[in-house]
Order: sequence, then structure tokens, then C-alpha cells
Amino acid sequence: GLEIRLAARPEGWPTPETFEFAEVDVPEPAEGQVLVRNLVMSVDPYMRGRMSAAKSYVAPFEVGKALDGGALGEVVTSRAEGLAPGDVVVHGLGWRSHAVVDARHALKVDPQAAPLNANLGVLGMVGLTAYAGLVEMAAQKEGDVVFVSGAAGAVGAIVGQLAKLRGASRVIGSAGSADKVRYLTEELGFDAAFNYKDGPVHDQLKAAAPDGIDVYFDNVGGEHLEAAISVLNDFGRIAECGMISQYNNTEPQPGPRNMPMIVQKRLSLRGFIVTDNLHLRDRFVEEVGGWLREGRIHYTETVYDGLRKAPEAFLGMLRGENTGKTLVKIAD
Ligand code: NDP
Repeated sequence: GLEIRLAARPEGWPTPETFEFAEVDVPEPAEGQVLVRNLVMSVDPYMRGRMSAAKSYVAPFEVGKALDGGALGEVVTSRAEGLAPGDVVVHGLGWRSHAVVDARHALKVDPQAAPLNANLGVLGMVGLTAYAGLVEMAAQKEGDVVFVSGAAGAVGAIVGQLAKLRGASRVIGSAGSADKVRYLTEELGFDAAFNYKDGPVHDQLKAAAPDGIDVYFDNVGGEHLEAAISVLNDFGRIAECGMISQYNNTEPQPGPRNMPMIVQKRLSLRGFIVTDNLHLRDRFVEEVGGWLREGRIHYTETVYDGLRKAPEAFLGMLRGENTGKTLVKIAD
């Protein structure tokens, strides 16, 4: 088997040297475990945080040890009740060709219900993040004007479409290229979109939202957050999902300069982590799964071929080379 390890903690942007490949023996499952042959894995922005030693909501990766993260694979050997060879499971031990997984950490998926990869994207943690943020954290109501940053990425693309389906009067997205802007308005049904690299976010947002915004779903932080605070209407709500513009900073950046507006406009800002919201999963799967089957939600994947491409996939995602969910195909 092959596994990918953290070679060194990155200072600033990670590089190919952050990773190392190792050939390892395929492990044997113990009682209560299964051996899984991984088929596809996810790369996610939060993994950048885990490459640093700083304490956060998930433990840091260890130097010299295999990385981990969301993956999907086929059970080869089972020593656990309820799981049999051939079953497909989602689990947390990606970045390797084979994984020994505790059965209680393996979620069996129905290969007939949806394309397999959707379990790592729109129907998995990505979709639940969009749903929890919009529905619970931002309490989106019918008629709201909703703005989402990172809109052509995995989470953002779902947020915008969900907002529209749940009755937003106007959905605005920002992304980092003209192609992505076109994708948002022409393929995903956003009412307006802009390329944040074309000019100040504040000016572009204001032009796209002449009546202000009621909800901001933040994937980016920094200048985007400041602009949103300025353009939010009274009693506006921010779902604080991520701040990817800051993940590779070596020094903490000054916050938005317009924080007094939070008081003046009675805004609320709620940070959240998807794994605290698993109680929403059934509702989410029913609602979003339904829209997906009806063809009312679209999703795109950027797939890298081969486990050895995983570092490239991760680095490409951080640079914005992806549209939609970034995945690595490990095996057929
Ligand atoms: P994406 O698929 O959105 O990929 C990351 C995107 O970030 C890139 O495609 C790039 O798009 C954009 N980006 C990179 N650098 C910058 C920058 N400096 N300014 C603006 N945009 C930038 O990833 P995900 O959908 O998986 O994650 C999106 C956000 O959601 C992240 O902040 C992540 O940490 C957060 N998240 C939070 C969760 C939670 O539980 N709170 C769970 C899952 C994700 P572009 O070309 O537009 O720049």
C-alpha cells in the first residue's frame, strides 16, 4: 500500500515538500474493524490548519505520520458486524491506498442512491456545511438577499443554490476568475456574481446588491468580511464558515475596520463547525437529496487522478484551481 505523510510543517504556503510518500504493508483489521480499499478521497481547506502545530478543534497532523481526512472505499475484509466485503463506506482515513477503520467510524453508503463521489461532496460534509450555515446559523428567511464568498467552490456553490431554492430574493456570489463568475450566473442560477480580483470587494458587492444584503455566508474572511459588514442591512446575519484568505498567513492580520457597524446595525455573526451539526443530517439528506434527484441542484467536481496527485490537488484547491469539490481518485 501507499500512504502520504506530513514531511514538515509548512511556514506560510505548503509546497510539494510538505508531503512524503511511503510504501507500507497493508494492515490487518482487528475485531470490530474493516480493511478498506480506498477509491476516492477529499482534500479540504481545514487540512491546512492541521498542518500547523497550533491547537484547534481537530488535533494537528503529526510530522512523519500519514495525513487523514474524508475518503470513500470498498470493504475488502470485515471483522465487524453489519459490514461485508463489497460494501462501500465513507470514513476518515484518506491519504492512503488502504485503511483499517473501526466499524463505528465507517458510514455505509447506498451506491444506488447517488453517484458515489456525492457522498464526499453535496450529500456529505460539504453539503451539510452549506445547509447548517444557511439554515441554522444565518437563519435564512424567504425574501432575504444572500451573499456567499468562495461561491464557485464546494461549499459556496451549494450555499448559493440552496439559498435560491429556499426563497432568497437575490443571490450574489464572489469568486476568483471570470470563468467562475460565468459558471455562477449561467449554470448555477446566481442573480449576480463578481471576480474579487477585479477591484475592491466593497464596491463590487455594493453594485451587485443595490438594496443591501441580509445574509452573508463567509468562506473567505478579510476584505470580504469587511465589505459584507458594510453592505449588510439592519439585523443582518453572518454564517462564519471559514476564512481561507488567511490560512497561509504567517502573522495574524488586522480584523475588519468597521466592527462598530455590528452594533449600529444589530448584526449577528456565528462561527460554526459542521461536525457539531450532525443532528441536522437526516433533514438535510431528505431536503437536499430530493432537490438533487429532481435535478434542481447542480454540482461540479475537480478530480485528480491517482493518490500520488493528492498533494497537487490540495495545493491546487488552496490556489483556487478547482471548481466545485476537489477530489482525488485512488482506484476504480
Ligand atoms: P473550496 O472548494 O471553496 O476551495 C477553496 C477555494 O477558496 C478556492 O477554490 C479559491 O477559489 C478560494 N480561495 C483561495 N484563496 C482565496 C483568497 N485569498 N480569497 C478568496 N478566495 C480564496 O473549499 P471548500 O468549499 O471545501 O471550503 C470553503 C470554505 O469553507 C473554507 O473556508 C473552509 O475552511 C470552510 N469550511 C468550513 C467548514 C466548517 O465546518 N466550518 C466545513 C467545510 C469547509 P477562488 O478561485 O474563488 O479564489
